Amino acid sequence: MDKLIQNGNVVFETEIRRCDILIRGEKIAAVFAPGAFSGEAEVIDASGLYVMPGTIDPHQHLGLYKDLGDAFRKDTPRQAVGGLTTLLNYHRGKGDYYETVQEAIEAGEKNSLVDFAFSLGLCAKEHLNELRGYVDRLGITSFKFFFDKQDIAHTFYDLPEEAALTLDKADFYFIMKQLREISPELLLCVHCEDADLFRALQKAVKEEDNPNDRYSLAGFEKTRPDWVETITIGDTMWMNHIADGNLYVVHTSAASSVEMYDLLSGTLGGKVTLETCPHYLVLTKDSPCGLMGKVNPPLRTAADNEALWEGIRSGSVKTVGTDNVPVWKEKRYEPGDDIWGVYVGFGGPGMILPVLISEGYHKRGIPLTTLSMVNSTNTARVFLLREKGVIAPGYDADLALVDLDWEREITPELFGDSDFSVYEGMKLKGWPRYTISRGEVIQKDGVVTAEPGRGRYIRRHVRP
Ligand SMILES: [Zn+2]
Repeated sequence: MDKLIQNGNVVFETEIRRCDILIRGEKIAAVFAPGAFSGEAEVIDASGLYVMPGTIDPHQHLGLYKDLGDAFRKDTPRQAVGGLTTLLNYHRGKGDYYETVQEAIEAGEKNSLVDFAFSLGLCAKEHLNELRGYVDRLGITSFKFFFDKQDIAHTFYDLPEEAALTLDKADFYFIMKQLREISPELLLCVHCEDADLFRALQKAVKEEDNPNDRYSLAGFEKTRPDWVETITIGDTMWMNHIADGNLYVVHTSAASSVEMYDLLSGTLGGKVTLETCPHYLVLTKDSPCGLMGKVNPPLRTAADNEALWEGIRSGSVKTVGTDNVPVWKEKRYEPGDDIWGVYVGFGGPGMILPVLISEGYHKRGIPLTTLSMVNSTNTARVFLLREKGVIAPGYDADLALVDLDWEREITPELFGDSDFSVYEGMKLKGWPRYTISRGEVIQKDGVVTAEPGRGRYIRRHVRP
């Protein structure tokens, strides 16, 4: 039976209008003026709710510290509670990507509640001979480059040193050119932190051996200050201009980086998209999470939070990804309990939409239309998710029906597949009463209503 979402305030790209949305099967079939539809349909009453495209999270690391299938099964239900309908996971590591991506697709289709795609880490020289094959055979159109792993890719991927990419500027330039030759739509996601610089700064902080630094995020931040990111973004944007590439800067953390983008983006060629994360919008190096908040790049200051919000408002920051890494506390401490030991990364499942609504709309007055673009539409476009992220006939019926006034505190039931949260105790106002994925209600009032294993791998294509 068709579904009719009735009386909602529908958030389109540039306006919010009271509309009814007809869903037929997995797709949006029509958008009507309120009351104009006269056929038979199961009605979902959206009075007082704001209907937005479901969240698309472009940045996750399911399977990094834990089994991938497990992470899909246990973490994606929590993500749906936050309004998420699609995620992109970074796939990287040893082995033949044609095989390992296939295994990851199976793990996802068996266990994920929501739709998913992969971005592929480039770390072996051999990967560069296969780029076209990854696009054509695996349906992957986004890749990842790690400046922070310069000269050490072989240790992460279990490769002989000579088989690994150096991951220096020259590698970036040639890879971007190669992608550009296959298609201008292919995206290179780049971790912008200069390894020579942070290694030298780590050494200096270690030698200084200030006891206040050793157990604090503020100490950790000294090893990777804002400018280590900012100058790498500047260099990379300039090389992207020379290569006429399609650059995507992951997890932008610093006010100075937004400034660098604003300075260069008007004059340089190529496309550039800046992503930030919920933690760079709401947490600082002084937040109560302490070293549980260790992440690269580091948490910084309230001024950086504000600059990133202003970047969202102005359109300089176009997407938000969680950098979600399901992990146990105990695992984090395995190598040691100070800034040199603790592993990086933490969970943040389903945090994008509640953070955008609570902190962006309620606290800062950023229009819902802008936030909705960041939450979904911009991400769908840049990652070539061509049937997602828009409320219009023909698109997948992936929707979040948001109650702007529903306030929830982040408690263990919202941690997902992790046993801690850097957001614990935070109160966020603005949660979805319903999450709908391809026409199916997968979450209602915070309770998951569908079975994991219904999510589908999204094979992506470039235009011929
Ligand atoms: Zn990441």
